[in-house]
Amino acid sequence: VIIDIHRHLWSVMERYPRVREIAARSHRDVFDTASTQEAKPDADARAAELIAEMDASGIDVSVLVAGDYGLRLGEAMLTIEEENRVQARLAQRHPERLVAFFGIDPRRPNSDEMFRTALREWGVKGLKLHPGSGYSPSDRVCFPLYELAAEHGVPVAVHTGPMAAPLLSRTAQPVLLDEAAAEFPETIFIMQHAGQASWQEALNVAFWKPNVMLELSMWQWVYLRNPAEFVAALATMKHMIGTERLLFASDFPGLRKTMSLVRWVDLFRELPDLARGYGADFSETDAASILGGNAARLLGMPESAALASSTES
Ligand SMILES: [Zn+2]
Repeated sequence: VIIDIHRHLWSVMERYPRVREIAARSHRDVFDTASTQEAKPDADARAAELIAEMDASGIDVSVLVAGDYGLRLGEAMLTIEEENRVQARLAQRHPERLVAFFGIDPRRPNSDEMFRTALREWGVKGLKLHPGSGYSPSDRVCFPLYELAAEHGVPVAVHTGPMAAPLLSRTAQPVLLDEAAAEFPETIFIMQHAGQASWQEALNVAFWKPNVMLELSMWQWVYLRNPAEFVAALATMKHMIGTERLLFASDFPGLRKTMSLVRWVDLFRELPDLARGYGADFSETDAASILGGNAARLLGMPESAALASSTES
């Protein structure tokens, strides 16, 4: 099994008019640039494209996560409730291929009631928070959501690492997840992007908190900048927390221009060879765990196929 545990239906640029405005004025592509067009909210067409892209790259399951930036950026094309509903409906329609995590800013009134409904009635399999919108993931305002995640035994995925303005970097620091992880030791917290350039801080938290996992989307940039640095960082992660707590992810469609999904998946399939070239040691089993075995366990799916699919090549 190959599982992409961080993927979006629409890019931030498509969802938020404010982001398109900023991008139009900016010289740099600071946000994801998959499209500068407003999305036509044809979710079924988008899901079909997404599944075709998964087929082409060998991804069995993608986890759809909705980042809620509305309180910081102004509201998106759909309300956050509608957006979550759309994702959950797609996951119900394609149960073998798509999983939905519920994304919400915990400061919204009734965020916990919405999450409860999503868990009980819509079949979502996790929670997604984006603290770059201006709250700490250890703020008490998040705790009712964590209690629900704990009650239902589902993971909590949290963006970590710096963000472009008007989103905030300070509240997205990996260490801010530490208290949440301590207060809810039975709940798995996924540090999305493994903290990016703050990866050592993320890794240090994960080293001491066994319920913290590191997710590797956005690391396409690290690999392209310097493959040796990419391998060395992964080897340090393996050495400190083992490959059982590392998760493959793409953060598509935002990262589509950076590297194709086929190449990103193949890079992990070929990790044993790649790593050997830089004097690091990753087995086929390590690669299979990162690509999907760990996520399968986390999502309660069969993981046996994980070894089969990536030991073959
Ligand atoms: Zn993302």
